[in-house]
Amino acid sequence: MNCEPTKTPDDIDIPALRERYRRERDKRLRPEGSEQYVQAADGFAEYAEADPHSPPVVRGPITAEIEVAIVGGGFSGLMAGARLKQNGITNFRIIESGGDFGGVWYWNRYPGIQCDNESYTYIPLLEELNYIPKAKFSDGSEIHGHCQRIGRYFGLYEAALFGTGVRSLRWDESIKRWRVGTNRGDDIRARFIIMCVGSTNRPKLPGIPGIKSFKGRSFHSARWEYEYTGGDQNNPVLDKLADKRVAVIGTGASAIQIVPYVGRYAKHLTVFQRTPSSVDRRGNMPTDPEWVKTLKPGWQKERQRNFHGWSFEAFPPGLAAQDAICDFWTEINRNLAAKLEAMGNPQLPPEKFFEMKEEEDYRVMERLRRRVDSIVMDKTTAESLKAYFRFACKRPCSNDDFLETFNRPNVTLIDVSEQQGVERITEKGIVAGGVEYEVDCIIYASGFEVTTRMDRRLGIQPYVGRNDLSLYAYWADGLKTFHGMTAHGFPNHFYTGFTQAGVGGNITAMYDQQVTHIAWIIKEALARGAVVVEPSKEAQDDWIRTIHETAVDMTEFLLECTPTYWNNEGGGKGSDADRKKKLRFIFGEPYGPGFYAFDDLIRAWRDKGDMAGLVLGK
Ligand code: NDP
Repeated sequence: MNCEPTKTPDDIDIPALRERYRRERDKRLRPEGSEQYVQAADGFAEYAEADPHSPPVVRGPITAEIEVAIVGGGFSGLMAGARLKQNGITNFRIIESGGDFGGVWYWNRYPGIQCDNESYTYIPLLEELNYIPKAKFSDGSEIHGHCQRIGRYFGLYEAALFGTGVRSLRWDESIKRWRVGTNRGDDIRARFIIMCVGSTNRPKLPGIPGIKSFKGRSFHSARWEYEYTGGDQNNPVLDKLADKRVAVIGTGASAIQIVPYVGRYAKHLTVFQRTPSSVDRRGNMPTDPEWVKTLKPGWQKERQRNFHGWSFEAFPPGLAAQDAICDFWTEINRNLAAKLEAMGNPQLPPEKFFEMKEEEDYRVMERLRRRVDSIVMDKTTAESLKAYFRFACKRPCSNDDFLETFNRPNVTLIDVSEQQGVERITEKGIVAGGVEYEVDCIIYASGFEVTTRMDRRLGIQPYVGRNDLSLYAYWADGLKTFHGMTAHGFPNHFYTGFTQAGVGGNITAMYDQQVTHIAWIIKEALARGAVVVEPSKEAQDDWIRTIHETAVDMTEFLLECTPTYWNNEGGGKGSDADRKKKLRFIFGEPYGPGFYAFDDLIRAWRDKGDMAGLVLGK
């Protein structure tokens, strides 16, 4: 398929837009930054810990001595289990708080849930398991089904400890093992631990006074209560909402998918929006069987690389490398590549190139704002729904029903940007702009602990390595790792996610890269008779230096962005110098040369075989 550049408006006033972006950002910066959010713990634990999808697991505490404990049973934990098995390691458990595998795809079952990244790149191990998704954008149930398929294929169900949340992690030097404590009183002594906790694992609540006083029904988007709304994930007919006034708080990627369904079924829906998302056309399509016939071995990795290049790399691949993805994620680079081609692909100085890229960003965002005008009939509502920030400041969305929902007579948008959010929750409803909106149900589509404090995100206390060193304290002023996956002072400890590793456009490919590496290290350490493996301080210092020397400085971009969890709420309100100190980038401190350069680097490290930088102890 030939993927053409899109037509974006050229009648735009960039200096005026830049100013507008700043104004919109400034009015949303809050002094408390990410501390504004309420943890779904203690008095609010029911918003995270209640499991509406499975009967409670009833079992007594277990005592076990195992080779590896994998913490988390989402895609990263599943792939860790698969890669361990492929390396001949079978004595492991996957400890998962949900009642099944799936992670975010287990917990998030709200109506309309789909993956926003195309399924052919996002859903991992398609070739290994010989599975082709049904459509470009998969439904959540299909993705969850694939998690179960991975579990069955690799025999991981036998290793699972479901309904079990890890609550403490302590390195025990006397037995050279990790003591893994859980909410079930288990005593698990694991030689190695692999942390596969994901990045959107823990729901958070908005910092709104009075949440507890509300007398109606309320739940978080990641714990959808179909028994209250009617319907189920595969048949989201929310018929029990027919006589209900429902509020949705938030307009992030989850809400964009939820709002059309609640709007269709509720007596009245009020959406409280602090910052709009950019919402493009979805254009989902069933998988073309003729295309499937053309796929050659290695196609998924090739496609993931194509997606990464067109959506994530600063410089677009040349036009010769066709944009196989051809959707909203790849538009800016695609348009840019066409413009560069028309100019004869000159060697531009970086400032000139980034100026062109910024201009295309303004044009694409303007196209999306005009899209709002072309769909939403009420002018004030349309104005509120327009996103004034750069494309990559907040997670871009696509949906064919979200904007349309605001044309329904039973749906109201309340713009709370001037008040920096909803003011208060009362017994009867929600107060915003001094007005009380009475509702029967509040749905918190308020996101997850992503760039908030690490101890909040994990809910594991204590989390300590050698000499009672807390990982939270150790990483509080910056990550300290070797290759992003191990840390000095934390023997036999492997971390996955956004640390100091390679970051790509496709999170599941990143997890596979990391767990493949980790499984190799564990196999080699055991084969060499080691019981302890840990990076030397020198190797770690070298890696941190490499990370800093190769870093692509995102500070100015993140400072300009509207506050979201992507930039740790913009570092809060304050001087630029203060904000800079508190900015945290969702992607951690990635290896500057990029995801595939990192892949080359760790492959070469493995091929060399001397495990340089790691100290093996007997
Ligand atoms: P987000 O964090 O993106 O959105 C939370 C929403 O709550 C925001 O609109 C936020 O406003 C709003 N909010 C927070 N506090 C207040 C307040 N006090 N008053 C009013 N509004 C408030 O969470 P989501 O669950 O939507 O998405 C999280 C991530 O999960 C996505 O970015 C994505 O990575 C993933 N996801 C992926 C999907 C997929 O397709 N693969 C689908 C859905 C989610 P503000 O923006 O102003 O902070």
